[in-house]
Formats: sequence, C-alpha cells, structure tokens
Amino acid sequence: MKAIAVIPGKANSLHFEDAPDPVPEAGEVLVRVLRVGLCGTDAEINAALYGEAPAGSSYLILGHENFGVVESVGSGVEGFKPGDTVVASVRRPCTECFNCQHGRADLCTSGHYTERGIKGRHGYMAERYAESPEFLFKIDKAIREIGVLLEPMTIVEKGVAESLQIQKRLPSTPRTAVVFGAGPVGLLGAAALRVRDLDTIVVSMEPETDIRAEIAKQMGCRYHSVASSPLDKLATQIPAPDIILECTGSSAVGFAAMQMLAADGILCLLSVTGGDKTELVHAAEINRDLVLRNNVVFGSVNASPTHYRLAIRAMKAAEKKWPGALGKLITTRLPWTDFAKWFDRQVSGIKTTLEIGS
Ligand SMILES: [Zn+2]
Repeated sequence: MKAIAVIPGKANSLHFEDAPDPVPEAGEVLVRVLRVGLCGTDAEINAALYGEAPAGSSYLILGHENFGVVESVGSGVEGFKPGDTVVASVRRPCTECFNCQHGRADLCTSGHYTERGIKGRHGYMAERYAESPEFLFKIDKAIREIGVLLEPMTIVEKGVAESLQIQKRLPSTPRTAVVFGAGPVGLLGAAALRVRDLDTIVVSMEPETDIRAEIAKQMGCRYHSVASSPLDKLATQIPAPDIILECTGSSAVGFAAMQMLAADGILCLLSVTGGDKTELVHAAEINRDLVLRNNVVFGSVNASPTHYRLAIRAMKAAEKKWPGALGKLITTRLPWTDFAKWFDRQVSGIKTTLEIGS
C-alpha cells in the first residue's frame, strides 16, 4: 500500500513509501483511512527534531490525527462492523509503569510509551491500518464531517477536564475563561469551555475580521485581538479569568498568563514550545502572585480513552449548538499526493487535511 513516511533523523525526508499491507491479527480491526489532519508535530518530525521508526523499520509512516472507515473485523471483535467510521488514539502504553497498566498511558511515568506516527509505531498517512478495538472510537453521523478533529479535541478536553477536576478543591465553580491562541487547539479549547457554559474570551494575533474571530464569536466567545493592543496591556482590558488555556506555542505567553489569573485561578499549558528560547521574567513577582492567589499552573499532553469519549460528546454538543462552527476550522483539504504543499508552507489557514481515501 501507499504511505507517506519519513526517515527519522533525516530532515525533509518525507516521501511516498511502498509499505506492506497491514495484516490484522485475530481480534483486530482493519481500517481504511479517509483523511488525516496535519499539525506542527508532523512538521517537526519532518524537520528531524524528533520521531522514531518502529523497531526493524528504516522509516516511520507519519500521521496521528486520523479518520477512517472499518473495512473488516477479525474474529472475536465486538462493537465494530464494516462501514463504521472511526478514529484511533495515538499513544500506546509502556509495559512497566503503574499509570499505563491502569489505562492512563497519557500519564506514563517511564517515558517508554509509543505513539502512532510519532514514536516507535507507524501512523495513519497510509491507505490502511490494523488496530485493536480498545484504541478505536466510533464516530457517528452527527460529527462525521469533523471526525478528523477528534484527536486534537481530546487534547483540550483533557486540559479542561483536569482543570475542573483540580478546581474541585474550591467551594465555588469556575465561571470565566481565557484561551490564548486561535489555532485549531485554541478554538477547540474554546468549544470545550463553551459547551460547559464558561464565559470565554479568545485572545489571538489575528484581527477581528479573521475567520478565527468569526468562529470564536459563533460559539459565543468574545474575541480579543492583540494585533492592535500588546499583550502587557491585556490585563487592563479583560477581566482576570478563573481558567486560562495557553495554546499559542509561545513560552512568553505562558508566563504572561500566570500573572493574569484571578484569585484561585488555574492555568493549563497545552503548547509544546520548541527550541531553547530564554525569557527575562519577573520571577519573584510571579512566584509571590501564584502563592498569594492560590493559583495552579499545570501542563497537559495527550489524552486517555475517557477524554476521547468526552471529546466526542463535546463535539456533538458543539455541532448541535453552533452548526458548522467546528467545520470551519478545516480550511484546506488537500489530495494526499499534494502533501508537500503544506510542508513547504504554501498553505495557510487553520487546519489542513490530507484526503486519502473515500
Ligand atoms: Zn508508562
């Protein structure tokens, strides 16, 4: 079968690979891939910043944001049938840590987990893949058109769910939120907050006329552009929020956000910031404010099966409340043979997908 792969460690090695057809084992499901979503992780793997081929393979099939249709099911598989549309999760547990053995590979402590399309396992930029049903999530008709957004949605669902879990320490309930960044993660984060009825402000670089602002407003958020007003003025322009999601990819924004929280507020960092940039920060002031305001700052990566189920529920609720809003995040659909256009940065917009099958 055809697949898009990289040679890990070799920059710009993305190519079509003639890969062996997946042969499902008993108890596995064979899935035909319909589309994959592209994200910064794919670009960074192609830039050889990280990425690891499966043992015994010289290449890594890329792709982790996925959407496909069940082609056949092996003996003993229950709950899936040919024609079902599905999304597969990304991370697979290690064999040694307690959290992985208890369904929380997203909280792996050994670091020996694998990830499809990223670390030690082939991904989904291929005509087909085989998978165990425990890692597959059924996508029903209501969100089929936006099913490829499920994987990034799970990331923000975990961030929001864990923020709310931590805030159970409070007698009060969080009511206000700010999302930094209006990329796919930021806007999906805004959706996750709005379906829970939090009063949400999206803060981003793009002007008020941008499609990102339109999507945010359609979901009932306020949109604040920092194009015309710098970040350090922001605290005087918007009220201090109970929850902040940081989704910009900028560590400077993360530190600025720490100083914007309301008393008892919580900051969830969702950006995997690249590089080794240093910042001059007001360390004593930040430390003091975090203490005196009982603030919590935490990072969150990946997602558990629970978050996949929460994300499906949130996407259905969002689609019902604001029909078509999440669909507007998919701004470009490329035939997969045109993958280079995105990796060569010829495509702008919010989310680009590669259309693989039909
Ligand atoms: Zn583990």
